[in-house]
Amino acid sequence: MSTPIAKLPGVGPKRANTLIQRLDIRTTSDLLRHLPMRYEYEAAEDQIENISQDAIATARGQVAELRWVPGRFGKKGRFEVSLQDDTGSLLLTWFNAQYLSRRIQIGDYLRVQGKTKSFGNYTQIINPKWEKLAEPDLEPARDDKLRPVYPATEQLASSHIERVIENILPAVLPHLIDPLPDDLLKHHEMPPLADALRMVHQPNDLDETKAARRRLAYNELLLLQLGIAMKKAFVRDRLQSPPLTITPEIDKQIRDCYPFELTDDQNAVVKEIAHDLSRISPMNRLLQGDVGSGKTAVALYALLAAYTSGKQAVLLAPTELLAEQHYLSICNMLHNTNVSVALLTGSGTTKAEKQKRQIIHDEIQSGDIDIVIGTHAVLSDTFEFKDLAVVIIDEQHRFGVMQRAFLKSKNTTDDKNQGGKQGGGGGKIPHHLVMTATPIPRTLSLTVFGDLDVSTIRGLPPGRSPIINRVVDMNKTDDVYRYLNDRLARGEQAYVVLPAIENSGLEDDPKKQLRNVTDHAKLIQNKYCPDSKVGLVHGRLKSEEREEVMKQFRDGSIHVLVATTVIEVGVDVPNATIMIIEHAERFGLAQLHQLRGRVGRGTHGIKSLCVFIAEPTTEDGEKRMKAIASSNDGFKISELDLEIRGMGDFFGTRQAGAAPLRVAQIPQDMDLLMLAKRDAESIIETDPLLKSEPNALLKSVLLKTHGHTLGLIDVG
Ligand code: ADP
Ligand code: MG
Repeated sequence: MSTPIAKLPGVGPKRANTLIQRLDIRTTSDLLRHLPMRYEYEAAEDQIENISQDAIATARGQVAELRWVPGRFGKKGRFEVSLQDDTGSLLLTWFNAQYLSRRIQIGDYLRVQGKTKSFGNYTQIINPKWEKLAEPDLEPARDDKLRPVYPATEQLASSHIERVIENILPAVLPHLIDPLPDDLLKHHEMPPLADALRMVHQPNDLDETKAARRRLAYNELLLLQLGIAMKKAFVRDRLQSPPLTITPEIDKQIRDCYPFELTDDQNAVVKEIAHDLSRISPMNRLLQGDVGSGKTAVALYALLAAYTSGKQAVLLAPTELLAEQHYLSICNMLHNTNVSVALLTGSGTTKAEKQKRQIIHDEIQSGDIDIVIGTHAVLSDTFEFKDLAVVIIDEQHRFGVMQRAFLKSKNTTDDKNQGGKQGGGGGKIPHHLVMTATPIPRTLSLTVFGDLDVSTIRGLPPGRSPIINRVVDMNKTDDVYRYLNDRLARGEQAYVVLPAIENSGLEDDPKKQLRNVTDHAKLIQNKYCPDSKVGLVHGRLKSEEREEVMKQFRDGSIHVLVATTVIEVGVDVPNATIMIIEHAERFGLAQLHQLRGRVGRGTHGIKSLCVFIAEPTTEDGEKRMKAIASSNDGFKISELDLEIRGMGDFFGTRQAGAAPLRVAQIPQDMDLLMLAKRDAESIIETDPLLKSEPNALLKSVLLKTHGHTLGLIDVG
């Protein structure tokens, strides 16, 4: 099943490439799970007079006449054959196939197949499939057949995929061992794996295809749910975290650090988190909330809960910019306390910078530092915490990274002095909280994030006014910036976001060229907003330069910040009330929503505005523009995004290396998913590590499919 497709008969390097690039099919197993999207009915072989029109027909007869009809220009033309049996005759036409005149002779017996059409008094088949019958009297007549129609591409026809599968099925099926236990299959009345694969690719009837698809979809979902249940049970039973004590006094002390009251949603989440933290079983929680909903405030509560128990905590952000910003705002809130907070980013490579990092590492190791704010890269550094109790991972929406982060961090922070509860793979780990601003539709949270407990902040902090959204054409650009200038004159600040840093140099026509941040910043400064100060940030600036610009924007000495998507997450400047996104059609929907979240953060009562300057050239692009203007609700946007992109792309699972669901479809297969979830939980309940004999095969298949993405390698 794991044979690379390039090694299969009938698949050369070129086709292998198409299969991999366009259909994401790499192995025999992938190919066998590439199911037909529908079936075509082929009628049984019949006498010519009985053949119906506009159907796929099969017939046999003798060649009575043939001729080559040249086209007007050169070689092209058509080859025509009149095929006869006792009941009538059939006109066969092949275009541009002169070679056939050498291969088909008068008097030959042929079996032909193709779509029939009426042509004057004749029934005609254009470009039929054909075979010569050497001994027509001995050849049995062909039966009815359902032919699979596969999702295909221009370079690779369905019929070719069909042939490859036809070739490998007889070699593979007899050796397949079914990973699912017999009694489970019996209970659900599902066919064994080999039967299901035969039934779905070469069905005798449509009932077979349905039964087979159900079994294969269940198979996928069960494996995924087993992986999730196994990991969950492992974390619950085998790992321990330090229980933190949160008394009412401590709770009050922590709340006193905030310059505001927590909202009801925030309070509810804090309660869930405090409960998790007080237990010996590790917290493994996902906190989802729209941009600006106040997740970081909740995170601070967990960080401080570690501190008040005399332990350490770490907050990890995806970029240095964000880490720095978290650092500043947290230091700000804690300036009246004794909590010592350190910023740890991995970028500097000079001797001085390395030394500085070394000092922080030492202080973390000795316990002088209570709270560490850093980038995700900190996870791969080689230093140890003295007593790490809480890990918070911010803005983590990449599926694969997120799934792995949990167990991976265990290795850097494992407490060596305290051995595991039951030894053998057990151990001490910190509590984990993962935060995401890409809300996850429920259907998905059950599939891919099933091992996490989920908390949600729905509303925004009080005093916010909703953002006003406008989508406009590029020819409105001058108007947009004139309006921007008016608002800058009233003391407001603005972001202008562009997709590119420099010209690609690919387009000669300056009108077609993408506006880029560097030139556009100059244009805004010189032409549109000469009285304001315009700043520029992008990913290629040195982090000190970037931080300097950000600082000036934050303190109001820069009025317009022209930027690439480096400002996508977390940047928090409440006085910024206008955002202009150039070439908006080039951004993904989730990304546009993230970007837009940079405005509308103030409580000053000024209505924020987001202008999307867009020239969508595709249908999806148009849908995205409609969607972004239709709602400010991140949950709504995320569902629209899932609709437009489909599940495979939603999490960028390809980059993350997650095994996608090929057969099962979410949300259509929700019932099957719930069934698989229940079964998986009961299997893991009785056999948490799948050690018993009937589950052995299940376990090996599970590790092969999801071991890497779910981090099960460590578990098993
Ligand atoms: P997120 O991380 O979810 O994007 P933040 O935690 O950065 O959101 O909060 C966004 C802004 O709202 C910050 O300026 C923060 O200080 C403010 N904020 C958070 N919670 C509250 C609250 N309960 N009341 C008032 N302002 C709040
Ligand atoms: Mg945040």
